[in-house]
Amino acid sequence: MGSQCIDDDILTVIWTAEQVFQKICELASQINNDFSSPGSTSPVVVGVATGAFLFLADLVRNIKLPVTVDFVRAESYGSGTVSNGAPKISCDVKLDVAGKHVILVEDIVDTGNTVSRLISYLEGKGATSVSVCTLLDKPSRRKVHFKLLGDGKFYSGFECPDAFVVGYGLDFNERYRNLPYIGVLKPEIYK
Ligand code: 5GP
Ligand code: MG
Ligand code: MG
Repeated sequence: MGSQCIDDDILTVIWTAEQVFQKICELASQINNDFSSPGSTSPVVVGVATGAFLFLADLVRNIKLPVTVDFVRAESYGSGTVSNGAPKISCDVKLDVAGKHVILVEDIVDTGNTVSRLISYLEGKGATSVSVCTLLDKPSRRKVHFKLLGDGKFYSGFECPDAFVVGYGLDFNERYRNLPYIGVLKPEIYK
């Protein structure tokens, strides 16, 4: 059980709230450039709940195009810190993505299982392209080399060290999502 102040459970801050915000502005500006060609249909931004909720909120506020927003839920973790490798889609998108360019928004791409599953899922729903925009990427732990759909692009904020991180949407046992920065927990919290 952690203490009453969640900041006290953090061993080290990896990215401050300011660094996170700066990076999100860069990602949004790349998206603004890539999707602004005249005549192109505006993208559907699909956040992967729950982890991407803050990232999506800050990202779309810096996207200047007329996007629509939805969420999907994929579950693979249970309560541990290691993915079980078989993510299940437990909550569908509400919007019709057929014939649309989708930007899938993730908190972190780790083994790649979740993103790979979600790309196939959106392809099955008839999306024209699927891009992935992830705040964090752990390429050192990749197990699945997923293929983006159509002319989809991969947008990645920070390369994450091989450590379990929390904050800014990312949880440990559903806690710490509300930290405004990203950090590593003190080892005693996992016990
Ligand atoms: P993957 O399917 O790529 O292995 O994992 C994707 C999901 O695992 C992420 O969306 C995230 O919810 C969770 N995950 C992976 N690494 C971390 C981490 O370091 N910290 C937290 N809190 N979640 C992680
Ligand atoms: Mg996630
Ligand atoms: Mg989680």
